[in-house]
Amino acid sequence: MNKQFGWWFFTCGNQILVIPQGERIPYGDVDDLPLPELDFSQVERFSHYQGEACLRLELAEPIDLGMGEWVELRASMALLNSQLFDLVGKAQQFALFLKTHRFCGSCGEALQRVDWELAMQCQQCGFRAYPRISPSIIVLISHGSKVLLANHRRHQKQEQPIYTAIAGFVEAGETLEHTVHREVSEETGLRIKNLRYWKSQPWAFPHSLMAAYFAEYDSGDIHIDRRELADAQWFDVSQLPHLPPPGTIAREMIDHWTEQLSHNK
Ligand SMILES: [Zn+2]
Repeated sequence: MNKQFGWWFFTCGNQILVIPQGERIPYGDVDDLPLPELDFSQVERFSHYQGEACLRLELAEPIDLGMGEWVELRASMALLNSQLFDLVGKAQQFALFLKTHRFCGSCGEALQRVDWELAMQCQQCGFRAYPRISPSIIVLISHGSKVLLANHRRHQKQEQPIYTAIAGFVEAGETLEHTVHREVSEETGLRIKNLRYWKSQPWAFPHSLMAAYFAEYDSGDIHIDRRELADAQWFDVSQLPHLPPPGTIAREMIDHWTEQLSHNK
């Protein structure tokens, strides 16, 4: 198979080249793309989309490639379909993995690429490294027609503060359910019940996999953890605050809950 044919993910740090036409990721044979001289020996094949290879080429500078424009990886979410956006995430995680796994963490030897799976192997001691994936949870807590949404410290600077669901990383030795209860208790002081798993979403900034849950309020008053949150409140479905952008799992959960509520009326 020709290594130089497929979907082209031109990246430069945290930017990706997006074109105005079609699926918005350049597609085709390298010889047919209107490109200046690039070092195509550095092309990495990292996945497939619609039966064709996904090829990544990292550029040192966001130079003018004569087509499209450079956009921030996260911002490409609004331009690409969700499958392609997940592939952008995969390309990013792949790049991060190669960059941070050049030497064996056990004996210090240089690592070699494994050619049949995404891994790096030590010839000296046999240690094999895989891309890091950090499981995390996100939970939307409802109480009748109200929903608990929090403004995180990291979102506080924005002009219109974003309110979103409670989320956090899984700690070593925890089940996902345990993490949900612990995060809710730590960040809000509340107890929850009727925990229901919904779906998951990979999130490549930098390497998380989020498991989404719905839950209902059980007991307690809101006491927020000020290190993490700036505010948390119950919002009625008729008066929701500024929400996370479409495409995020948090927004999808809030929209799903709103829809369910209107069906059950
Ligand atoms: Zn080793």
